[in-house]
Amino acid sequence: MPELPEVETTLHGVQPVLEGQRITSAEVRVPTLRLPTPKASEFEGRTFINFRRRNKYILADNDTGQSLILHLGMSGRLTLTTAASPILKHDHILLTTAKGQQVRFHDPRRFGLVLLTPTNDLPDHPLLKDIGPEPLTEAFNATYLHTALHGKSIPIKTAIMDGKLVAGVGNIYASESLFRAKLHPLKSANSLTKKQCSILVSCIQQTLTDAIAAGGSSLRDFSHSEGQLGYFQHNFAVYGRKGQPCLVCQTPITAQVVNQRNTFWCPSCQCS
Ligand SMILES: [Zn+2]
Repeated sequence: MPELPEVETTLHGVQPVLEGQRITSAEVRVPTLRLPTPKASEFEGRTFINFRRRNKYILADNDTGQSLILHLGMSGRLTLTTAASPILKHDHILLTTAKGQQVRFHDPRRFGLVLLTPTNDLPDHPLLKDIGPEPLTEAFNATYLHTALHGKSIPIKTAIMDGKLVAGVGNIYASESLFRAKLHPLKSANSLTKKQCSILVSCIQQTLTDAIAAGGSSLRDFSHSEGQLGYFQHNFAVYGRKGQPCLVCQTPITAQVVNQRNTFWCPSCQCS
């Protein structure tokens, strides 16, 4: 499942192709993904600007007061190509620009989402209005986190994966951030000291920043006119490494399902 760094990488890949470019033709091949899809005519002739990310949503505004909300879901990706390229199964939405470039939304499992909504309604949109602060902004800091965790007796990993507490920290980066912070994922959220909150904030930010940088490197690897956005090679410290030696202390990495999600940690480094 794409997490925040993958979405950020997708945004950086699609923005140069679509931003400020008029969409001359559109094809919408499915009536619905997670929610009903817009009609092709709602894209045609429009120009999108102000591309940005909020949580795991890509947002952009067009010249008629409508905004795009795009989510990759479980298996979605954007493909940069041209109209001459054969249409693949699961290529659901195709947008062609005046320059002849084409962006395709491809999603085998169809949990993704492509919506158009009035720009004025975005702040109160049900998908967006309850999202917590972005992890890479100053609003996400030790004081905020310490206060937000107050009274929460759930595992710290479950707490930081709650999008209402902080946006976009998914399962992979929650495990990776807690490893860096030397915090046990099952530690009760309300037991973190202010100092531990400060360390955790820094580790979440550094983990995400490193992954975004890795995604940026992957963007430079494919030709700028053609390619799939959003998935790249990672080197994880604990995620997916059950039984393998900890990179710091050689202790085998432990795995357990926490709140229905696979969770990985070093029992030696993360004992607090
Ligand atoms: Zn270790």
